[in-house]
Amino acid sequence: MSVFDGLNRVGRCTRCEEYIYEIKSQYPLDHEYGGEARSLGRPLNICRVVTLVLMNGNQCDITMCISCIEQILNLPDIWRKLIRTWQLEQTDKYKIVNNSPTLTLKQKKIQTLQLAKMVYNVPVGVLCIRKPGDRND
Ligand SMILES: [Zn+2]
Repeated sequence: MSVFDGLNRVGRCTRCEEYIYEIKSQYPLDHEYGGEARSLGRPLNICRVVTLVLMNGNQCDITMCISCIEQILNLPDIWRKLIRTWQLEQTDKYKIVNNSPTLTLKQKKIQTLQLAKMVYNVPVGVLCIRKPGDRND
């Protein structure tokens, strides 16, 4: 049982959790996040960036492995997983472990409002799928 069960893990495919980036360092095994990637290197050949179009017209990039791309049509499940992950990443505990500044009360209120918008601003389709670093824009 890990803190990250059901969440999006750093460096892994959003759907199947296979590593899609080189792992430069990991949390030590006796750490709460033991074995999880701490810093990443280059994307692996199986890594793809999927640009989702959200209901309000915004776009959101997620990363997945090639073999999951064909099964990407379960967007609601993937979206819920990302929302759970973003919730964890806003917590003081997560920020302290990752040496990031914790949020002020005002910032937390803003984050809560943004999260509420995300819950309802679901993806409605896939705009494009590309290798990381390949940009036509
Ligand atoms: Zn995958």
